Amino acid sequence: MIICMAGLPDTCQADSAKQKYMAADDCFKKLRNSSTEQQKVSSWLNCIRRYETIYQVHPENSWAPAGMYKAAELYLQLFKRSNTRTHKSRAIDLLARIRNKYPKSAYSGRAKILLKSIAPAQRQIKHIRSKKEETRNDARIDRFNRNQASLDLEKLIQTAEEKEKKKAPKAPYTQALAKPEKQNPRGDTRVTDLRVWSNPEYTRIVINASNERNYSHRLLKRDPTINKPFQRLYIDIEKTRLGKDVAEHIPINDNLLNQARAGQYLPHTVRVVVDIKSFENYKIFSLKDPFRIIIDVWGKGSNGSPPPEQSITQKDTDKRPVITSRITTDNLKSSDIARQLALGVRKIITDPGHGGPDPGAPGYIKGVWEKDIVLKLALNLAQKLRTRLHCTVELTRSTDKKLTLEERTAIANTQRADLFISLHCNAAKNKRLKGFETYILNLATDDQSITVAARENATSKKNISDLEYILSDLMKHAKIEESTRLANDVHKSMIQGMKTKYSDIVDHGVKQAPFYVLLGARMPSILIETSFISNKQECQRLLTQSYRNTVCHAITDGIEKYINATNPKQL
Ligand SMILES: [Zn+2]
Repeated sequence: MIICMAGLPDTCQADSAKQKYMAADDCFKKLRNSSTEQQKVSSWLNCIRRYETIYQVHPENSWAPAGMYKAAELYLQLFKRSNTRTHKSRAIDLLARIRNKYPKSAYSGRAKILLKSIAPAQRQIKHIRSKKEETRNDARIDRFNRNQASLDLEKLIQTAEEKEKKKAPKAPYTQALAKPEKQNPRGDTRVTDLRVWSNPEYTRIVINASNERNYSHRLLKRDPTINKPFQRLYIDIEKTRLGKDVAEHIPINDNLLNQARAGQYLPHTVRVVVDIKSFENYKIFSLKDPFRIIIDVWGKGSNGSPPPEQSITQKDTDKRPVITSRITTDNLKSSDIARQLALGVRKIITDPGHGGPDPGAPGYIKGVWEKDIVLKLALNLAQKLRTRLHCTVELTRSTDKKLTLEERTAIANTQRADLFISLHCNAAKNKRLKGFETYILNLATDDQSITVAARENATSKKNISDLEYILSDLMKHAKIEESTRLANDVHKSMIQGMKTKYSDIVDHGVKQAPFYVLLGARMPSILIETSFISNKQECQRLLTQSYRNTVCHAITDGIEKYINATNPKQL
């Protein structure tokens, strides 16, 4: 077996990237030769994922655009069979990114030709969709207006707003800042919350809105001549008003950011501005149920890369605002596994899923809930990791309290954790299903994984497919290889450990799916489904301390194995 890591000679990386490409080709050959396999979407996605991994793990390698191009071709072939819009969008996204990131590659020209052949149809779809959206929205507003006694007042407000919109200057944000109206006369979408987590190297800002909306962002360079000493990143959210309880000004003042501000930039556009002192990179993406926009900003040296600030500033200020409702943009460098190896594992975050008003899955036995079981498991696991592995261990929650999924990752990142372990219990309609499975963040390759991710993300299966569209961008900094190794070590130990004390232990293996809670995590991260709470026997077992103890003991064995292989001298 050849082991290649970041930091080793280029030839080793090239071999590894090439091997990955060849393995992906083998996967596709098998698919091409089997009409049965071609019927399954998961088989296509499995091969596509293999091609995409090259780009995610070796973005600087010349095999990366080759893999992306092949993945795009496969998505288009899959689209012809599935007629699923996401598959076509993924192909377009990949081709556009080849053009953008690898302009000198031979695949850039090929991507351009392929894009031309498919893009006009795509534009048409977009146009029709936005028109429909408009019509539906207008109809809703009309209906609402007809029911209002104060129709004349409505008209007055509307006329005033139209006038204001016409004369609204394209001036710096602060000059255009308008006071938000206290009423919500037409039931518009509201920005309901603005939250910030930060440490000197990392800041996560989350903007909540009451409905899904298009948004765009732009980075403006600092301009001391007009009293703008900081670079500003702004996000404009369309057809939205600022909720009256939202703080208009949040001081942050760490090494990265000075402050975040929210204001009604135009009558129907909320603008959130972040004053940036310095940064290495940033990433913007959105999640659904409820709709929220997440901005991750990383400081210089936070991932071991040299600061490319100058070129980013120049490049981005030259651009028009980028529509990011469907496509995320970024300027991130590849992850650095060598840094992880050098530092070892000192701090672990254990994350008991759900909590507070979100009880998680209901147990087979009435009154038993996932949130209570996983809290007991996480407390037990934390204790074992501290005493046996001498690591610092923090919990995302140690009581029965509400915690959003994006907050959990923010905690892990701001705490500079080396590992992130999210604990859950599985559930299924089929009460006979039982067993263990361990997940890493990636595209889901089977329907069952999509179902699990939809349940844990509290969203629909369709939204999981939409999420896959932005995932490859977010994956570049996810420690895929390290997470896979951690998942394999933990899962293997868990199954072995459970089998020594219990019969009927079912092994569902290590799987992958796009879990919100793992998105943006910068350390090896896994999500463990520790038994099916919906199964009678496993629900009964989860209620006993001895079973939970065995589960946590076995997980600790796995983490110990992982740490030993990562940094043998630490233990
Ligand atoms: Zn759960």
